[in-house]
Amino acid sequence: MKNEPLILDGNQVASNIKEVLKDRVNQLLEKGVTPCLATILVGDDPASETYVRMKGNACKRLGIDSKRVVLEASTSTEELINVIQDLNNDPSVHGILLQHPVPHHIDERAAFEAISIEKDVDGVTMLGFAQNAFDQAAFPSCTPAAILAIMDEYKLPMEGKHAVVVGRSPILGKPVSLMLLNRNATVTICHSRTQNLDQLVSQGDIVVAAVGKPNFIQGDWIKPGAVIMDAGYNEGNIGDCDYEACYERASAITPVPGGVGPVTIATLLKHTVDAAEKIAVK
Ligand code: NAP
Repeated sequence: MKNEPLILDGNQVASNIKEVLKDRVNQLLEKGVTPCLATILVGDDPASETYVRMKGNACKRLGIDSKRVVLEASTSTEELINVIQDLNNDPSVHGILLQHPVPHHIDERAAFEAISIEKDVDGVTMLGFAQNAFDQAAFPSCTPAAILAIMDEYKLPMEGKHAVVVGRSPILGKPVSLMLLNRNATVTICHSRTQNLDQLVSQGDIVVAAVGKPNFIQGDWIKPGAVIMDAGYNEGNIGDCDYEACYERASAITPVPGGVGPVTIATLLKHTVDAAEKIAVK
């Protein structure tokens, strides 16, 4: 009999999140506060331009202002930090998103660290990461938060499950591992130096793919009945999992596109509204 896993519909989860946000934005507007997300794009990488435009459009559709800052590829670390500090000091801006990656000559970590914790709606600062590790973050990193939001929406249990995370980047693999740990999963974190990756993945009740390589996770690595959360987004709308093959074994799976991606954007909007509400009650 053909396996028919639950398809985890990220568009639906995102739409539910945005529905709740609409009311909250309206309440803020009535108080004279317009939530505002500042996006910073350095250089002219077409994929980054698309991501920033998508985030700006998503803001607009919800009545959130988006302040778009576009800087030349030749911008120095110091100039970028000055721009971030101006946004930190601008009371009309509630959230700041520095689009990753920035050109190589820029010290990206130093730039991320310049974002004030109150406006770190993308969860990129070291302080935000540490708060997240302690389960105390105001704004956890958006993609990891989106992965958990989808699992919560579909009531997929994490407690006691073996979660295998492939990838350990500071914005995705590492924070999602800690968040799963905080939800009482037993977590294995894999990376480019991991040996016997297929065997480790095959132990996962939950597999999180955060590798950045199209169709990387193979179907025959998957334990029958596993939950597959594919955060990958590669050229041509392709995830990090071989979808058709993983589908054959999974009990639940996120499609690409239409899985983690739209929920990540909805999470960013939610964090911006959260940040604006904090200012509004001050
Ligand atoms: P990244 O910074 O490039 O990190 C990739 C991770 O994968 C690294 O930890 C790397 O290990 C690991 N890796 C690379 N090759 C591997 C291999 N052969 N075996 C095992 N692990 C390997 O990427 P990222 O920013 O975390 O993004 C990962 C994916 O998520 C990308 O497809 C990206 O487009 C997508 N993404 C999606 C969203 C969304 O909203 N849906 C948001 C952010 C990112 P090392 O640490 O050893 O190098």
